Amino acid sequence: MRKRWMSLLVTGLLVGGALVPASPALAAPTFKVPFPCGQSWSGQTRSDHSPANAVDFNRTDDLGDPVVASAPGTVDRVTDLGGTSYGKYVRINHGGGYSTYYAHLNGFNVSVGQTVGYGKVLGWVGSTGGSTGPHLHYEQRLNGNDIQVRFNGTLGLYWGTKSYTSDNGCSSGAGNATVDTSGTPLTVRSGPGTGYASVGTVADGTRVTIACQTSGTTVTGTYGTSSIWDRIGSGRFISDAYVYTGYDGYIPGIPRC
Ligand SMILES: [Zn+2]
Repeated sequence: MRKRWMSLLVTGLLVGGALVPASPALAAPTFKVPFPCGQSWSGQTRSDHSPANAVDFNRTDDLGDPVVASAPGTVDRVTDLGGTSYGKYVRINHGGGYSTYYAHLNGFNVSVGQTVGYGKVLGWVGSTGGSTGPHLHYEQRLNGNDIQVRFNGTLGLYWGTKSYTSDNGCSSGAGNATVDTSGTPLTVRSGPGTGYASVGTVADGTRVTIACQTSGTTVTGTYGTSSIWDRIGSGRFISDAYVYTGYDGYIPGIPRC
């Protein structure tokens, strides 16, 4: 599935008049590590950081390395504060009150108002503003307040330093997909429906390969309501309502089970 819950909700209201119950809270975007696919970066959190939940990212010889958008959104700030604070920074508005900050950049690759997707290069790692050496200062905010960061729904390490490997903008081959439940593990069934036996779970953020798709029980999940089920192994099915495939509905080129 591709579209998120709110866009489906709006479409439903406009088209059918068949009202869907309002969602009590907007799901957070699926944020990804703000570097290109496959790269590993050391991310440090510390309680005396400003703001406290920000992450400083480093790797060897990182000056000038590209910094990419964590999630789709609209660039709403491209600002140079000179030798103070963030220095050169970019802010992306992801909707639902969520935004991300990318600071101390060496230079910019986007402009205000630009729509960006996963993996879009925003600028390059630098040491501008109140920085003592090249690094990326990164924040996730909700309604303007900095929050503890999550990548693919998984909370970052607070407090300490951890290696984060990016799957941001990885080109998905046919059938490659990512489970997105916004937190809880997803139940795997022996067949295409909630009436089949549970045969385990897959964690939020897990990359899966879909062998085939079929119709089954209708489920409402992260990506709206769907009756499509994805076979991810022998006798292993998950609801497509919780899977990011890059497509709404069936994936072109993937067979029916
Ligand atoms: Zn910082």
